[in-house]
Amino acid sequence: MSDQPAVEVIALEKTYPGGVPAVRGIDFEVASGEVFGLLGPNGAGKSTTVGMLTTTVVPTGGTARLSGYDVIEQPLLARGISSVVFQEPVVDRSLSGRENLDLHGRLWGSAPALAGHRIAELAEVLGISEQLDRPVGSYSGGERRRLEIARALVSGPKVLFLDEPTVGLDPRIRQELLDVIGGLRAREEMTIVMTTHYLDEAERLCDRVAIIHAGTIVALDTPHALLDALGGEILEFRVEDEPEHALARLRERGVAGADAFAIGARITVPLHGRPASTALAEVEAEPLMVDEIATRVATLDDVYLQRTGADLQQAA
Ligand code: ADP
Repeated sequence: MSDQPAVEVIALEKTYPGGVPAVRGIDFEVASGEVFGLLGPNGAGKSTTVGMLTTTVVPTGGTARLSGYDVIEQPLLARGISSVVFQEPVVDRSLSGRENLDLHGRLWGSAPALAGHRIAELAEVLGISEQLDRPVGSYSGGERRRLEIARALVSGPKVLFLDEPTVGLDPRIRQELLDVIGGLRAREEMTIVMTTHYLDEAERLCDRVAIIHAGTIVALDTPHALLDALGGEILEFRVEDEPEHALARLRERGVAGADAFAIGARITVPLHGRPASTALAEVEAEPLMVDEIATRVATLDDVYLQRTGADLQQAA
């Protein structure tokens, strides 16, 4: 069983009543123990995908399996080996953290002694041991999010789904939580599927990322490979002239390659190891009105931009 993918998604589709095609036939596999990211702006279809994988949204086409269990044919078995942390809190604010975890453990049928041990261990891993006996109403946003994750882990899931785990947290707490999530993979034998619209989160935590745009996967690879395809460093500038014409000219002259792209008045040229000073001089030698010329390191936003013509961060 263990060489089976933890998650298999096959031609999965969801069109909501009223005809909104939220997910338009996507395929991917997640290996056991992998941290897999679904990256895309708001409305891309990430939550709908997680909803289908966690059996709360019924697919309108295709299927998916968790450790071999079909989410449509065997929803209880698929749910039994997985767990999800939603964006909206599900813990009870009037109970303490421990009571919440204990209650959840009992719902999952854990023996009390075992559950007690597991709760202490999880609180330790997630760094909430000291808060555990306080009512959840007194927790900070970051503490509550950690408790939500601990709750999802009580049942010892094989696959953990995290839907936008750091949304709404301030930057410092966000970084701390990312460390905690990063640490989880080392301690728990588990596969993590997370959605995010933060590029840095995907780059930092995920072994592989699927970039989603308008319900389809436009790129899927390791963050490193996706960035490598753009050659690491890029040259970027604005042109006064018609950008497509300018780009065509730069290509003809060998200044820009086939993978250079124009969005609005901005042209992006992957350098692929060419010295930035050479490329800069070449662009400036052209009879083009060029402005705001600079080099920088490629990000996953550039990958998204290149494949969709839209800006991930602005769209988010
Ligand atoms: P993301 O998680 O990437 O922000 P969603 O999966 O939430 O994207 O949404 C994808 C698309 O489906 C959006 O256009 C959204 O408005 C639509 N959508 C989501 N949930 C529903 C629903 N319950 N009914 C109708 N349309 C929905």
